Amino acid sequence: MKEKVLLDKKLICTKCRKIYELKNLSKCPACNGILKMNYEYDKVDHEKVFNKNDCIGIWKYKDILPIEDEENIVTLGEGNTPLIKANTLNKDLGIDNIYFKLESANPTGSFKDRGVAVMVSKAKELKADTVIIASSGNAAASTAAYTARGGLKCVVCIPESTPVSKISQAVSHGAQAVCLEGAFTNCYNMAKLASDTYGWINATTTFINPYNYEGNKTIAYEIWQQMNRSVPDNIIIPVGAGPILVGIYLGFLELEKFGLIDKMPHLIGVQTEECAPIVKGYEMELENVKGWSTKFKTIATAISDPLIGYEDDGTITLEAVRKTKGHMISLTEKEIMDAHSYLAKKEGVFAEPSSAVSVGAIQKLVNKKKIRKNETTVCIITGHGLKQNTLSNCRPKTISTLEDLKEAVK
Ligand SMILES: *Cc1c(COP(=O)(O)O)cnc(C)c1O
Repeated sequence: MKEKVLLDKKLICTKCRKIYELKNLSKCPACNGILKMNYEYDKVDHEKVFNKNDCIGIWKYKDILPIEDEENIVTLGEGNTPLIKANTLNKDLGIDNIYFKLESANPTGSFKDRGVAVMVSKAKELKADTVIIASSGNAAASTAAYTARGGLKCVVCIPESTPVSKISQAVSHGAQAVCLEGAFTNCYNMAKLASDTYGWINATTTFINPYNYEGNKTIAYEIWQQMNRSVPDNIIIPVGAGPILVGIYLGFLELEKFGLIDKMPHLIGVQTEECAPIVKGYEMELENVKGWSTKFKTIATAISDPLIGYEDDGTITLEAVRKTKGHMISLTEKEIMDAHSYLAKKEGVFAEPSSAVSVGAIQKLVNKKKIRKNETTVCIITGHGLKQNTLSNCRPKTISTLEDLKEAVK
C-alpha cells in the first residue's frame, strides 16, 4: 500500500500573502505576484524526511514537495547526484575545499529534471492532458521526457539559437516543438498566451509555475546531507531567471526553520556578460531588476534570459542573493569557454558552457579575494557537455598503419 501524504499543502502569494489550494495557477490571480509553496512546517517530521531511504532521488523529501497523492509521482530517478571534490582546481587555486555538484548526472542531463519531475507529477495530479513550456532547451528536453513517461502531451517553444542536441532530445520523446525568432522572451510570451487560451499547464521553468522551482530545493537538502549535515560557505550557481538559486535558497531556509542549520551559505549567481540583467541590478544596487534590452549573442544559451516582461523574476532572485550576503558576477564569452575547457581537460567533468560558468566564477572570485582560501565552496554543474557541441571540427584523421598513428599522436 502506498501511503497518502497527509500534511496540508498550500500556495501562498509572495506579494499579497493570499493563500490558494494547489490548482493550475501561474501567478497570483489577485495581484499577479509570484506564488510559492507553504507547508505545515511544525507538523513535518523532519528527521523522518531526512533519514528516509524508501524512495528514489528527490522523492525521499515528498512530505515537503507539492504532491498530495504518491500515486501521481512521475519519476526517472532524478536527484541524488554526486558531490565530488575538485582536484586540479583546488591545487591551481591553492584551496582545499572546492566541490562540484554534478547536476549533469540527472536523467536528461540537467538539474531541470528536479523541478520538471515535480511539475509533471503535479500536472498528472491535476488531471491535465497537455503541458506547454518555453525553454532555452534543457527544460524542453526534460519536460518532453517526463511527459512521455507520465502519458501527457507536450508542446515546447524554443529560441532559434537552441543547440540541436537539446531539440533532438525533446523531439525524440515525442514533444511537438516550435521555434520562435529572437530571444527567450518571445517563447515565454507564446507559452503564456497558449496556456491562457487553451488551459494547458504552463511548465515554463521561470517562476511562472510554482511547482516547478519547488523541486530545486532538493539540491540544498542533498548538499547539506552529502556534507555530513554541514553548510558550505559559498554555493556558485549559473543563473538565467534564477529559479535554481531561489530554490536552493528556499531549501536552506527550510533547514534553518527545522533548526537543522544555524547559518546560510552565501549564494553566488553567475551570468554571461552578454546578457546579465541580474548582475546589472546587483552592481547598480537597484531595488528592482530591469529587463535586458541590448541584443546579444552567447555560447551560454541556457543562462541568457533577458527577463523582459517578467522582471520580477530577476528581483526575487536578487533578493535571495542579498539575503544570503551573496554576490552576482558575470563572465566574458572567453572566460566561459576557458572554464568549459578547463573542467573537461583538468577535471574530467564535461559540462555545457552555461554550467561551466560556476567554475569560471570561482577563479575570478578567488583572484578578486571575494572568496577566501579557507572557505568551502560548491560549484553547481547544471548541465551536461553532451547537450551542446562546442567543437567545430573534432573528427580525427583516418589512419591505417602504426606509422600513421605515430605521426598523428606525436
Ligand atoms: C536552466 C539552466 C540554468 C539556469 O537556471 P534558472 O533556474 O533558469 O536560473 C543554468 N544552467 C543550465 C544548464 C540550465 O539548463
